[in-house]
Amino acid sequence: FWMRMTDLRVKDNRALARASQQAASDGVPLVALFVVSPQDFVAHDRSSRKIDFTLRNLVSIKCRLAELHIPLHVATLPRRKTVVSEVIIFLDSIGCNHVFANIEYEVDELRRDIELCSKAREISKQVSLYHNKSVVEPGIIQSKGGKGYAVYSPYARQWVSIVNSHLSDYLEEAQDPAPNGAAVRSCPKIGPLFLSEIPSYVEGFVLDPEDSMIMRELWPEGEDAASQILQRFLQTKARASQLEARGPLNEGVTYDVKHNRISKYHTDRDRADKDTTSRLSPYLSSGVISIREVLRAILKVTGAQQLNTDSKTGAGRFISELAWRDFYTDVLASYPRISMGRPFLEKYSGIIWENHQAPANSKDPAGTEMDAEALFRWKRGTTGVPIVDAAMRCLNKMGWVHNRMRMIVAMYLTKHLMIDWRVGERYFMQTLVDGDLASNNGGWQWSASTGVDPCPYFRIFNPHTQSLKADPTGDFIRHWVPELRNLRGLGGFSLFGSTSNPRDTHLMCNEFGNVMRPSRSFNTANTRTLSSK
Ligand code: FAD
Repeated sequence: FWMRMTDLRVKDNRALARASQQAASDGVPLVALFVVSPQDFVAHDRSSRKIDFTLRNLVSIKCRLAELHIPLHVATLPRRKTVVSEVIIFLDSIGCNHVFANIEYEVDELRRDIELCSKAREISKQVSLYHNKSVVEPGIIQSKGGKGYAVYSPYARQWVSIVNSHLSDYLEEAQDPAPNGAAVRSCPKIGPLFLSEIPSYVEGFVLDPEDSMIMRELWPEGEDAASQILQRFLQTKARASQLEARGPLNEGVTYDVKHNRISKYHTDRDRADKDTTSRLSPYLSSGVISIREVLRAILKVTGAQQLNTDSKTGAGRFISELAWRDFYTDVLASYPRISMGRPFLEKYSGIIWENHQAPANSKDPAGTEMDAEALFRWKRGTTGVPIVDAAMRCLNKMGWVHNRMRMIVAMYLTKHLMIDWRVGERYFMQTLVDGDLASNNGGWQWSASTGVDPCPYFRIFNPHTQSLKADPTGDFIRHWVPELRNLRGLGGFSLFGSTSNPRDTHLMCNEFGNVMRPSRSFNTANTRTLSSK
């Protein structure tokens, strides 16, 4: 069983379950393999945090598998081009004839698996690949024209009806792997694999000690931790308080356990000053918890027999967010250009962003120096726009930030600073612990209006009103931008004034909380540039 960065679990893992069944029926031992490929990490902008999270989860998986007498061999392969050949050599070395794996839908990973299939076939080895990431695998839901949907609503309607029509199949739990039997003892090549060590870091992706400690506290590894975080979202006050004691998941938010979070998710999910969402994304994106398990648990807690995506209920709204995850994965698989840095809407591929390198003879050098500084400030969270700065600092510290905050900062980068969405997409991947190409790209292209079902190009989030809605108490800003802590009426209000004139949102605060005007009126001018292009 070849485990990937997206299926880091033993429970409810389709390829692992099938590999175990096949091994048992053939009377041969099952071996698990994980490949550390540093060049792939670089190519895919994997954050050090995500790699650290992966390695920590592997340690926990190795222990779990060892209880079943299944070795987990972790191979570090320095050259990504030779990964498949090296894996084949490894298979030969242990006499393995059949490989099982779950599919990853990014172009490079699909190409790798195609190469694996063709190389394996040449030497009569079998490869079995499984869909495991989504509830409904990519390619099943199609428009009348036989293409993948590029609009969410009709996709979601079909998604819910297909799942409900075969609910037990779609949500079926894959069997736990059976313990390796006597065959493992009679196989001398396998014993040493139990001693294979999991690296504690990968060169080039080392976390500094403080960051490492924060990550361990905020995002504990392992399937049990993932289940607890799910329960914390689904259970009511008493149970949630017990779970709360386990870790400071409430950094930067007013903790409210009066009700279970899911029942208020539809009304509260956009609040960044409260702990309203599940915070499951690191676990879902690395596959530490199965999406099927999450849905089964929701049905159990709500007592419902069928899924619904009714946005007027907490559970319905939450399920529809999980459907967004499936949707973006489907888009990634149906439209490979998404993996290649291209806008989904090709007509926007010609936008000249402010941060482009202007030709030397250009009358308007596009303020490249100024844009470099603007980008730097955006990354550090010192733009002077409180809600943007709070969100970026939260992201930088936690490796995670609330969805609405992601939208606000993405929109600010692309539509106020007019900096290419790919720059922001990359920074997110390099910083997030939950980085997932499909969802990250989907979120960035939605914000930049270049993607599937995007917001219209002329819709620009007003940081002032967004701040009022998402952080009405101002607690989120106060926590993350402590230099503004003593200002009255936070929530962006006093900082921007109470006027509804959108030009006033151009007012900014410097690092000491003094209101100032930007030296350059980038907003309206650039908006016009975008629309005319
Ligand atoms: P909850 O609100 O509790 O949602 C539960 C789960 O549903 C999430 O864990 C996630 O798996 C899924 N989900 C929720 N919203 C979305 C969405 N809009 N799109 C796709 N799936 C969703 N999500 C990632 O997992 N990885 C990313 O790299 C990522 N990058 C993003 C970048 C931008 C610019 C934007 C706007 C959104 C991005 N998202 C990403 C989606 C979303 O912001 C996160 O999934 C969510 O904030 C995670 O917090 P949560 O688990 O508490 O979410």
